[in-house]
Amino acid sequence: MNFNVAVIPGDGIGPEVTEQAVLVLEKIGELYNHSFNFTEVLAGGSAYDLKGTPLPQETIDICKNSDAVLLGAVGGPKWDNLPGNLRPEKGLLQIRKELGLYANIRPAVLFDPLKEACPLKPELIEGGFDICVVRELTGGMYFGEKGRKETDMGMAAYDTELYSEPEVDRIVRKAFEIARKRNNKVTNIDKMNVLESSRLWREVVNKTYEEYSDVTLNHLLVDNAAMQLIRDPKQFDVIVTTNMFGDILSDEASMLTGSIGMLPSASLGEGKFGLYEPIHGSAPDIAGQDKANPLATILSTAMMLRFSFDLEKEAKAIEDAVLKVLSEGYRTKDIYSKGTNLVGLKEMGRLVVSFC
Ligand code: ATP
Ligand code: MG
Repeated sequence: MNFNVAVIPGDGIGPEVTEQAVLVLEKIGELYNHSFNFTEVLAGGSAYDLKGTPLPQETIDICKNSDAVLLGAVGGPKWDNLPGNLRPEKGLLQIRKELGLYANIRPAVLFDPLKEACPLKPELIEGGFDICVVRELTGGMYFGEKGRKETDMGMAAYDTELYSEPEVDRIVRKAFEIARKRNNKVTNIDKMNVLESSRLWREVVNKTYEEYSDVTLNHLLVDNAAMQLIRDPKQFDVIVTTNMFGDILSDEASMLTGSIGMLPSASLGEGKFGLYEPIHGSAPDIAGQDKANPLATILSTAMMLRFSFDLEKEAKAIEDAVLKVLSEGYRTKDIYSKGTNLVGLKEMGRLVVSFC
């Protein structure tokens, strides 16, 4: 099959890590007889430098005409003093919006060979864990009405948590669909004992669930969920939650895996289109030194194959190759421990390609 992939290398280590991910996709193409057509486009600080804007119209157009987007990372100290609307990060927020991406999928997988990196006691993580956080991305407190007003007690400020039934329904559907491709288990996380928005959220979850009764659903309050993630992470499979709670819980879950250089993510909307990127930033401190870990970006391409192209076998081949590289003891600096084999970014990429 033929797939068009827009590639946004971005800033800092972005170009290095996306280069390795593209090489892995090309190998998968050869092995399984698919053709991936890559188009490189600009966004972030490098786009600002060359075009005067962090998100050129051409980038939006090419992304919209692609089947999926692969993004490295944007931003860095060089652009920190630009006005808000010209900042590299703004380009990223805007592109998600332009592309209608409302679901952020963040797996937190503890690979067995990396279990020393997990801060939890060994008996809690026997066999590793594999959690997938589905976070609502375009609503809630981040986008609700906000402002300041003078009150008797001085200046006050407010942010409104607002969710409509269709907004909740579409994110919950995504979570159930993903659960069907995994282990048929969803945990909904809200704060319905206190928040009216959470009460509506939970009503919609239960209503939508009527169409997915083959999936096991349970509910947790967010404070309890934050605790349970540390107490017993293995109880979770797919988690679905709001923009705000998802922001916090996905960071918490990712820390349990111990390495920012290992975790991929996807942003999805209606249909199959998606944007795939590592959860880490542009890491300017190690850019251009062949030191960065490319595995988060490589694992992002596995998500692309799974969610946008329905190529489960090929996705699994990439994930298995990554596991094999780790099992054989190869490590970039961020995941290095004594007795393992330190390699650079390019060598790590080459190893994954050779194990596919
Ligand atoms: P952002 O605001 O874009 O999320 P940040 O400043 O929060 O960026 P990162 O750019 O992710 O954070 O960097 C945080 C730390 O993690 C840095 O020390 C960086 O070198 C390290 N780091 C990030 N990504 C990787 C990677 N792929 N491989 C190795 N180290 C990494
Ligand atoms: Mg950050």
